[in-house]
Amino acid sequence: MACIFCQIAAGERPVHIVYEDDRAIAFRDIHPQAPTHILIIPRDHIDGPAEASADNEAVIGHLAVVAARVAADEGIAAGGYRLVLNQGRNGGQSVFHLHLHLLGGRRMGWPPG
Ligand code: 5GP
Ligand code: ZN
Repeated sequence: MACIFCQIAAGERPVHIVYEDDRAIAFRDIHPQAPTHILIIPRDHIDGPAEASADNEAVIGHLAVVAARVAADEGIAAGGYRLVLNQGRNGGQSVFHLHLHLLGGRRMGWPPG
Protein backbone atom coordinates (compact mmCIF):
# COMPACT_ATOMS: atom_id res chain seq x y z
CA MET A 1 0.00 0.00 0.00
CA ALA A 2 1.73 3.18 -1.20
CA CYS A 3 -0.45 5.83 0.44
CA ILE A 4 1.08 6.86 3.75
CA PHE A 5 -2.24 7.94 5.25
CA CYS A 6 -3.78 4.58 4.29
CA GLN A 7 -0.82 3.03 6.14
CA ILE A 8 -1.61 5.22 9.16
CA ALA A 9 -5.28 4.20 8.97
CA ALA A 10 -4.17 0.55 8.91
CA GLY A 11 -2.00 1.07 11.99
CA GLU A 12 1.17 0.45 9.99
CA ARG A 13 2.88 3.77 10.81
CA PRO A 14 3.44 5.19 14.29
CA VAL A 15 1.40 8.34 14.90
CA HIS A 16 0.01 10.08 17.97
CA ILE A 17 -3.71 9.41 17.61
CA VAL A 18 -5.97 11.82 19.50
CA TYR A 19 -9.33 10.44 18.27
CA GLU A 20 -10.58 7.58 16.12
CA ASP A 21 -13.84 5.93 15.19
CA ASP A 22 -15.12 3.64 12.45
CA ARG A 23 -14.87 6.33 9.74
CA ALA A 24 -12.08 8.74 10.74
CA ILE A 25 -8.77 9.10 12.58
CA ALA A 26 -7.26 12.27 14.05
CA PHE A 27 -3.52 12.39 14.75
CA ARG A 28 -0.84 15.01 15.40
CA ASP A 29 0.97 16.41 12.35
CA ILE A 30 4.64 15.36 12.25
CA HIS A 31 5.68 18.96 11.36
CA PRO A 32 3.31 21.13 13.39
CA GLN A 33 2.66 24.62 12.03
CA ALA A 34 0.91 25.80 15.21
CA PRO A 35 0.91 24.78 18.90
CA THR A 36 -1.98 22.46 18.03
CA HIS A 37 -1.80 20.88 14.56
CA ILE A 38 -3.91 17.79 14.03
CA LEU A 39 -4.83 15.97 10.81
CA ILE A 40 -8.25 14.37 10.49
CA ILE A 41 -8.52 11.72 7.76
CA PRO A 42 -11.18 9.34 6.49
CA ARG A 43 -10.24 5.67 6.98
CA ASP A 44 -11.22 4.99 3.36
CA HIS A 45 -8.98 6.54 0.71
CA ILE A 46 -10.18 9.73 -1.02
CA ASP A 47 -7.53 11.57 -3.09
CA GLY A 48 -8.47 15.06 -1.95
CA PRO A 49 -11.30 17.59 -1.68
CA ALA A 50 -11.78 17.59 -5.46
CA GLU A 51 -13.04 14.00 -5.09
CA ALA A 52 -16.00 15.17 -3.00
CA SER A 53 -19.18 13.61 -4.35
CA ALA A 54 -22.67 12.58 -3.32
CA ASP A 55 -21.23 9.17 -2.42
CA ASN A 56 -18.72 10.50 0.12
CA GLU A 57 -20.36 13.68 1.40
CA ALA A 58 -21.31 12.03 4.69
CA VAL A 59 -17.77 10.94 5.52
CA ILE A 60 -16.31 14.30 4.46
CA GLY A 61 -18.86 16.08 6.64
CA HIS A 62 -17.93 13.72 9.47
CA LEU A 63 -14.37 15.12 9.39
CA ALA A 64 -15.78 18.52 10.41
CA VAL A 65 -17.73 16.91 13.25
CA VAL A 66 -14.55 15.19 14.48
CA ALA A 67 -12.63 18.47 14.18
CA ALA A 68 -15.10 20.26 16.45
CA ARG A 69 -14.86 17.49 19.02
CA VAL A 70 -11.07 17.37 18.93
CA ALA A 71 -10.81 21.18 19.12
CA ALA A 72 -12.91 21.09 22.28
CA ASP A 73 -10.81 18.25 23.71
CA GLU A 74 -7.60 20.18 22.92
CA GLY A 75 -8.88 23.31 24.66
CA ILE A 76 -8.71 25.52 21.56
CA ALA A 77 -12.43 25.85 20.82
CA ALA A 78 -12.99 29.01 22.86
CA GLY A 79 -9.98 30.83 21.44
CA GLY A 80 -10.73 29.79 17.88
CA TYR A 81 -8.90 27.73 15.31
CA ARG A 82 -8.52 27.16 11.59
CA LEU A 83 -9.62 24.22 9.42
CA VAL A 84 -7.80 23.75 6.09
CA LEU A 85 -8.34 21.40 3.14
CA ASN A 86 -5.51 21.66 0.60
CA GLN A 87 -6.21 20.55 -2.98
CA GLY A 88 -3.53 19.90 -5.58
CA ARG A 89 -0.28 21.69 -6.32
CA ASN A 90 -1.51 25.27 -6.01
CA GLY A 91 -3.42 24.37 -2.86
CA GLY A 92 -0.25 23.07 -1.24
CA GLN A 93 -1.36 19.45 -1.04
CA SER A 94 1.58 17.07 -0.49
CA VAL A 95 -0.23 13.90 0.66
CA PHE A 96 -2.92 12.73 -1.74
CA HIS A 97 -5.24 11.18 0.84
CA LEU A 98 -7.84 13.72 1.94
CA HIS A 99 -6.99 15.33 5.29
CA LEU A 100 -8.49 18.19 7.26
CA HIS A 101 -5.90 20.30 9.08
CA LEU A 102 -6.95 21.55 12.53
CA LEU A 103 -4.66 24.40 13.57
CA GLY A 104 -4.89 26.35 16.80
CA GLY A 105 -3.16 27.76 19.82
CA ARG A 106 -1.98 30.93 18.08
CA ARG A 107 -3.48 33.75 15.99
CA MET A 108 -3.61 32.79 12.30
CA GLY A 109 -2.73 35.24 9.56
CA TRP A 110 -4.92 36.18 6.64
CA PRO A 111 -4.54 35.92 3.72
CA PRO A 112 -2.90 32.50 3.99
CA GLY A 113 0.49 32.04 2.36
P1 5GP B 1 -0.69 18.76 2.93
O1 5GP B 1 0.51 19.59 2.61
O2 5GP B 1 -0.83 17.58 1.97
O3 5GP B 1 -1.97 19.54 3.06
O4 5GP B 1 -0.45 18.18 4.38
C1 5GP B 1 0.19 16.97 4.63
C2 5GP B 1 0.60 17.00 6.08
O5 5GP B 1 0.93 15.69 6.47
C3 5GP B 1 1.82 17.88 6.36
O6 5GP B 1 1.46 18.89 7.29
C4 5GP B 1 2.86 16.89 6.90
O7 5GP B 1 3.64 17.45 7.93
C5 5GP B 1 1.99 15.74 7.38
N1 5GP B 1 2.63 14.44 7.33
C6 5GP B 1 3.24 13.88 6.25
N2 5GP B 1 3.68 12.64 6.55
C7 5GP B 1 3.33 12.42 7.85
C8 5GP B 1 3.52 11.29 8.72
O8 5GP B 1 4.11 10.26 8.37
N3 5GP B 1 3.04 11.42 9.99
C9 5GP B 1 2.37 12.54 10.40
N4 5GP B 1 1.93 12.56 11.67
N5 5GP B 1 2.17 13.62 9.60
C10 5GP B 1 2.65 13.55 8.34
ZN1 ZN C 1 -4.82 6.70 1.26
